[in-house]
Amino acid sequence: MEYFEPKTLSDALSLLAKHGAEAKVIAGGTDVMVDIKFKEEPGSLVNIKKIPGLTGIKENGASLRIGALTTIRELETSAVLRAKLPVLWEAAHQFASLQVRNTATLGGNIGRASPSGETLAPLLVLDAKVKVAFADGEKTESFSSFFQGPGKTSMGAKGLLTEIEVPYPAAGSKGVYLKHAVRGAMDIAMVGVAVMITPDAGKNNLQDVRIGLGAVAPTPVRAPKAEALLRGKPLTAALVKEAAALAASEASPISDQRSSAENRRWIVEALTRRGLEQTWQAATGKEVA
Ligand SMILES: Cc1cc2nc3c(=O)[nH]c(=O)nc-3n(C[C@H](O)[C@H](O)[C@H](O)COP(=O)(O)OP(=O)(O)OC[C@H]3O[C@@H](n4cnc5c(N)ncnc54)[C@H](O)[C@@H]3O)c2cc1C
Repeated sequence: MEYFEPKTLSDALSLLAKHGAEAKVIAGGTDVMVDIKFKEEPGSLVNIKKIPGLTGIKENGASLRIGALTTIRELETSAVLRAKLPVLWEAAHQFASLQVRNTATLGGNIGRASPSGETLAPLLVLDAKVKVAFADGEKTESFSSFFQGPGKTSMGAKGLLTEIEVPYPAAGSKGVYLKHAVRGAMDIAMVGVAVMITPDAGKNNLQDVRIGLGAVAPTPVRAPKAEALLRGKPLTAALVKEAAALAASEASPISDQRSSAENRRWIVEALTRRGLEQTWQAATGKEVA
């Protein structure tokens, strides 16, 4: 296996263009090193950690720009991220152990494209965009079209994720990320649900609702039927029940060593219900009627 440590973005992009699918980008290495040990060795490793300009969390008008090499711990300890994007902060806070959070990067979590990636459902409901660089240019893509299946993204083998741009939610919005895992934060999510709501000016109806589901489909997905059912209405217990069941029906989970598909659907329903109740109360100050 060849090993490269490019010092500039353009050197890294040239290496990826030259080696294509034989090359593997490595950032924190918390996924890549496990794969090398237990699955297969790539033809070459391109370590991007020494490339300047790919870390940090910057305010940019009505959005936050997060460098791909920003670690999960940097997200967790960022006051601005906690204040502006609490739903993403919650995912960082519930992510593995402190040791892993210190090493794992946001770009690696996204680049891995695992359906259970902790930050993906929150970034989906936040309408994030990813910036991907190639040897011959760069593109910005919506999070909703970036993922193509487990381990597959539209950047392919020659793209390098450089930045994630996350717009601030509308005023008055509240979001929550709920993770269910066998060993809590120490384990990869069996199911992760992100809920974001925006009440109307009078705090009587749901003006906007976004529900993101993780670990229950080949990619992170929204629950558009449940969202449509809720939009424009006041949140009642009956509506919560109906919407949560609808969200569960929109998931397409698999059975694996962590859980059966049936159990995963049931957890989606329970977490969606809890997420809707919590965000409604936080946004309106009212209990669900
Ligand atoms: C003990 C343990 C616990 C874990 N717990 C969790 C958990 O609770 N939640 C969770 O979501 N994950 C968990 N993980 C998985 C892993 O830590 C995360 O996916 C992490 O965010 C990966 O980041 P990294 O920087 O280590 O990525 P790496 O391992 O370096 O790379 C991961 C993938 O992304 C690609 N990649 C990395 N950076 C880029 C880039 N900038 N552009 C293009 N491609 C890129 C790599 O080629 C590779 O395919 C755990 C892993 C371990 C070992």
